[in-house]
Amino acid sequence: MGRWAALGLLSALVWSASALGETGRGPQPAPSSGPAASPGPPGFGRPRHWVFVGVVSAVCGAWFTLVAAAQRRRGDAASFPARLDNTLNFLTLGLAGLQATVKKEEKTVITGAEGDIKEIQAGPALKAVREIIVSAVRQGASDIHLEPKGDDLQVRLRIDGDLVTDRVLESRLGTPVIACLKVAADMDIAERRRPQDGSFSMALEDHTVDFRVSTAPSAQGEKMALRVLDRTRGVRHLVDLGFQPEMLDQMRRIVRLPHGMLIVCGPTGSGKTTTLYASLGEIDAQRKNVITIENPVEYHLPNVNQTPINEKAGLSFAKALRSALRQDPDVIMVGEIRDVETAQIAAQASMTGHLVFTTLHANDSVSSVYRLLDLELDPSTLCTALRAVLAQRLVRKICPECRQPDDPKPEAIQWCKRHGIADPRFFRPSGSLFNAPCPKCSGQGYRGRIGVFELLILNDAMRAIIQSRPALTDLQAKAGAAGLIELRGDALLKAAQGMTSMEEVLSLSGL
Ligand SMILES: [Zn+2]
Repeated sequence: MGRWAALGLLSALVWSASALGETGRGPQPAPSSGPAASPGPPGFGRPRHWVFVGVVSAVCGAWFTLVAAAQRRRGDAASFPARLDNTLNFLTLGLAGLQATVKKEEKTVITGAEGDIKEIQAGPALKAVREIIVSAVRQGASDIHLEPKGDDLQVRLRIDGDLVTDRVLESRLGTPVIACLKVAADMDIAERRRPQDGSFSMALEDHTVDFRVSTAPSAQGEKMALRVLDRTRGVRHLVDLGFQPEMLDQMRRIVRLPHGMLIVCGPTGSGKTTTLYASLGEIDAQRKNVITIENPVEYHLPNVNQTPINEKAGLSFAKALRSALRQDPDVIMVGEIRDVETAQIAAQASMTGHLVFTTLHANDSVSSVYRLLDLELDPSTLCTALRAVLAQRLVRKICPECRQPDDPKPEAIQWCKRHGIADPRFFRPSGSLFNAPCPKCSGQGYRGRIGVFELLILNDAMRAIIQSRPALTDLQAKAGAAGLIELRGDALLKAAQGMTSMEEVLSLSGL
């Protein structure tokens, strides 16, 4: 037996014996133990410690012996420090392996808002959550809806603007799925009567996807909506968004101005953020200080300083914008203007040498101007600051593989003639190729979406009109007379070019 094992076992025996002795003496009254029997160092007086130290010593001794024997077999006359070193290395490797195994078992791959890994027990609910999320990301869904339907939970995905039923989960799975997502998003599982907000990230095969989660009570039970923020879908370029060539040139000129304000308006889900990101992409962020203030940051842009607002922590758009202005910015993107304070700071910033991009909830470009005036922004400040307003919507792109020629109403043909389109070619969606579903669009007739735009550029004449605060209809008439192509006009142009259908143009009837 090796020296180290012997030493270890000897120590073990000595310590165990003394521990037993301590145990034996323990219950005796204090005077009989006498001063000579005073124990060792403080803290080691209790028998459990001695037994523990003994066992550890024995194990270590045996380990040293095994390593030494292995070295002898190899004819390696290593010294004690080298042997100790080898042993420690071995132990470290073993510990690292153990740690990795534990991590692998814990691989719930869900990260909470604060970056903490959630320990969600693997089981049918987590498996169902993964399946729903993988399905949504593969199909390019922008939102996932989990809605109670009787006892079941219906899962619907928003793909290209429309909701599609993905699956229906039985109640035994539906409730745990909601609970699992609530844990992931840092929500209170027990709270079902009040709306809650949260977020989490999930690692898929090759990338991580972020989710913004919200719950709402309904008469049928608790419903949940998840916004999918898939950063790998990347930032698109202005040229890919569907601008007509002339409007694309105008947009490029505007986003390269040294200062001024560009507003992009439209309802939620009309692609405003995509357009703003694409506009930022036109700027050389290496040579300019580009700052964004967003709620939340949807995509990470290279060389851009992106600030997420945090209302709970008191960081509002207005506060973040004030702070951004102290950071020597060239270009600032403000996610949204909702209040007079943000509107005023943004306008002031664009009048003092900064280029400001922002969005506004308004139906069309002329209404945006009125919305800002309603926010009590001074008309002269507005006229000086504002350079252009882009209104936009998204329409479905017709599938070029299976589209069929269409014969629209005479008014549409007339409109094309008035706007100099000599050979309009309209199509309608078919969805079938020789009676079988078209493989390119899975029989839907449409594939992807394209923007339709209305770009109002403020010239001196428009500014003079705005200063006089005319009625909305008057301003619309003046803008039309100045050559403004309205949203519906741009959509009709895209239908005449075979990009979309008349059905989609008419779906913009809310304009
Ligand atoms: Zn097709």
